[in-house]
Amino acid sequence: MQAEEYNRRGKELVDYITQYLGSIRERRVIPDVKPGYMKELLPDTPPTEPQDWDTIFNDFEKVIMPGASSPACTELEIIVMDWLCKAIGLPSFFQHHHPDSRGGGILQSTVSESTLVALLAARKDKILQLRAELNQDVDDSILNSRLVVYTSDQAHSSVEKAGLISLVRVRFLPTDEQLCLRGETLKQAIQEDRKRGLVPFMLCATLGTTGVCAFDKLSELGPICAEEGLWLHVDAAYAGAAYFCPELRWSLEGIEFAQSFVFNLSKWMMVHFDCTAFWVKDKYKLHQTFVVDPVYLRHENSLEATDFMHWQIPLSRRFRSLKVWFVMRAFGLKNLQAHIRHVSLLESHIRSDPNFEIPAERHLGLVVFCLKGGNNLTQELLKRLTRSGTMYLIPADIHTKRIIRFTLCCQSLCFPSASVLPFQFFPHVLIRVKVERG
Ligand code: PLP
Repeated sequence: MQAEEYNRRGKELVDYITQYLGSIRERRVIPDVKPGYMKELLPDTPPTEPQDWDTIFNDFEKVIMPGASSPACTELEIIVMDWLCKAIGLPSFFQHHHPDSRGGGILQSTVSESTLVALLAARKDKILQLRAELNQDVDDSILNSRLVVYTSDQAHSSVEKAGLISLVRVRFLPTDEQLCLRGETLKQAIQEDRKRGLVPFMLCATLGTTGVCAFDKLSELGPICAEEGLWLHVDAAYAGAAYFCPELRWSLEGIEFAQSFVFNLSKWMMVHFDCTAFWVKDKYKLHQTFVVDPVYLRHENSLEATDFMHWQIPLSRRFRSLKVWFVMRAFGLKNLQAHIRHVSLLESHIRSDPNFEIPAERHLGLVVFCLKGGNNLTQELLKRLTRSGTMYLIPADIHTKRIIRFTLCCQSLCFPSASVLPFQFFPHVLIRVKVERG
């Protein structure tokens, strides 16, 4: 949507809301629909072609408003999570509406929260299993103290945080020269830890690491998790949106072993924050972790309807699926793919300048670079770039090398100047850094 239409539609929405609030007394307080009503009204796959605003908005009045905030909020979420699951090529066991599936997807606030939820579910499952095996009454805290979760030394800090919150030991495993976690490394760690009396119960693998967008080798790690009884959680925070493009799905090989998968729609899918898609293979493992049953939360549809309060930490929920529904329809799969395929031209510009080094292969849209001549010089460039107020880039480390990361997630098709910006800017800052350092 271009700026002029965005401005006009925004004003129309304010009119709509005012009119809604003015006529609210004429509407029912509780909707007059049965659980599952929306499935009959919407297609079970997302559109390939973009749809115009009027078409989508007419459906909003026809499909969403009769279901009020509930059950419409839950039902649309179920539908868009199945759309997304199919659109990015995840296994069908993650779908709500697949015949043999016990799984499904939910929109959470962040990847951090989803990883914590996955860890809590994996922990509960392992503790129940240990209790059954021991056949005696052992305190959960004793069992918890033996648990260990694995992740790579490139994993996001949210995994460490999930360990801190749950008082579970996190072991960071070394990656190979491509910064990927490999099967042999995991196998060896499991053997060592079992000898020490620990209980490995989970692996958080990353597809698209924060530092350089490296991909842990799921095809090697998955079978080991299955053999050793580890919950495989896949964090594809940034890279998940890339899987709209079938040619970019090579790193999903082994995904059939995953128990849970998460990606941020707010990163590369143009859905504004907060919006994170999280799928589980077995929703009952979430239920057994999170179910509470006070009288004020009971309702007559609890047996037949999905109740997302049992899939998450908070009770209250935002209507996040609405923005996903609008984005998927307004772009269509075709334009979502085009957005992903539009890669920044920055890499070739950097490669043509002998002062710079690209220390890791570019994956997807993330280019990482540093100045030749050491970390201090790179850090100084970053400081100058930030101080200039023209751009804000984030550092990371590849082992001992300080690097700068550059990626574009916004609608660069509509605002092409964003990808051109560094062309004009880097030489200017670089010359100043070099001159002042002599
Ligand atoms: N995981 C990875 C790989 C990330 O790159 C990030 C953030 O950039 C996160 C997790 C954290 O995401 P969130 O802010 O949604 O918790």
